[in-house]
Amino acid sequence: MRLTFLGATGTVTGSQFLVETEQARVLVDCGMFQGSPHEVERNRQPLSYDPRTIDAILLTHAHLDHCGLIPLVAAEGFAGPIFCTNATAELAELVLVDSGKLQEEFAERDHRPSRRAPDAAANEVITRIAAPLYDERRARAAVRLFRAVRYGEEREVARGVRATFLDAGHILGSAIIRVDAESRSVVFSGDLGRPDTPIIRDPTPVSDADYVVLEGTYGGREHEPQAEASRALAEAVRLAAEATGVLLIPAFAIGRTQEIVWELNALLDRHEIPRVPLYLDSPMASKASAIYHRYPDHYDEETTAALTRREDPLDYPGATTTRDARESRAIAKAKRPHIIVASNGMLTGGRVLHHLRELIDDERAVLLFVGYQGQGTLGAELQGGAREAVIDGQSHPVRCKVRSISGFSAHADERELLDWLRGFTRGTRKPKRVFVVHADPPARDAMVAKIRELGLEPHAPEWRETVELGSGTLSSERSG
Ligand SMILES: [Zn+2]
Repeated sequence: MRLTFLGATGTVTGSQFLVETEQARVLVDCGMFQGSPHEVERNRQPLSYDPRTIDAILLTHAHLDHCGLIPLVAAEGFAGPIFCTNATAELAELVLVDSGKLQEEFAERDHRPSRRAPDAAANEVITRIAAPLYDERRARAAVRLFRAVRYGEEREVARGVRATFLDAGHILGSAIIRVDAESRSVVFSGDLGRPDTPIIRDPTPVSDADYVVLEGTYGGREHEPQAEASRALAEAVRLAAEATGVLLIPAFAIGRTQEIVWELNALLDRHEIPRVPLYLDSPMASKASAIYHRYPDHYDEETTAALTRREDPLDYPGATTTRDARESRAIAKAKRPHIIVASNGMLTGGRVLHHLRELIDDERAVLLFVGYQGQGTLGAELQGGAREAVIDGQSHPVRCKVRSISGFSAHADERELLDWLRGFTRGTRKPKRVFVVHADPPARDAMVAKIRELGLEPHAPEWRETVELGSGTLSSERSG
């Protein structure tokens, strides 16, 4: 059995792993690189395998950095089944169709004459970078390959290869995937959630594996406790309410938006915040929330209990969901105070930007970050205390209050990752190797050290490195 690391090596995006046995070739995830230009360029490099020879794809969850290249691989000849949970299939369809549309839009915009460089060579570069990896049609064709699997059910996914999906507690439908073949067992953590977060269940403990492929996004870091995060959210609401201002929360459409609505509703129930009108302004988030509503069997005990009391913990009473861009713009004239939750979460695009343009120089507005801000984004700049910000080419002074909460992460922090990994030291067979992926170098190095302290053998693979998963020592090679 061989394992090749095709992404998420020394970085948090582009998750993709190739498992090869004597009889079959299976991909676990097929994600897009979304980081620096140097990384994004990897999306355009020729694939290191022939997609026609892949028997199946196993998808851990619907985030673009885990599923984003599926339409590309399908367009290049992959025609096998893509196994994932039902909820992941629905969310991934939303994400991939949106990604196809956005790529078409970007390509059109960047081909406008005003955007073109004066010489032919530069134009060629622009054309290549702007060319869509796939369009909406390709995305729609690819999602037809999805095949639903249930949590906990073992399934033969290719000849001699069995897979089991276990709840990862990261976003709705997310899975840890155990792959069994040639009498070896490899467990892929996928993105691992946190215990005790709202709506969805906790990550499933796993104990037996020969090899573990572990995400390490938050290696070396600890989140503030959930209770502290709720308290900070309540404080931001009260701050905006007392100033008769606006609380603007940039949030990712899938997962974070639903969690924030859940938290606001809970705060209201506990009388910790006044009843401030809420505007939900993201078409994608509304569609994702509808999908969240359809899977009550995936909820944790707390949310299930609220449902049986006939409460709707996923909704905020009287929330306004915008239906189009006109309604979105009209929020600026709405009675104050109010709360706006809009995507995207890092202020790199989406409707949140026109709200920010309205509010950034308003002393009575509060801008509240509730998620990770990638290096070089407008979100990171504002979070870092920038006094001026450029939105759509125009400079604005920053007069609104800027706050951040780290406790709403959908990723386990270092302690939680190690708690989960410790489960494998109690099993009947101890892993021969723990591969650390989905981590920037400092986080990765922190995880490597901690894994060694647990008495396990860590390995941080390089991009396109192949390892032989034998019963004895590990041998590895790297291809172009
Ligand atoms: Zn994820």
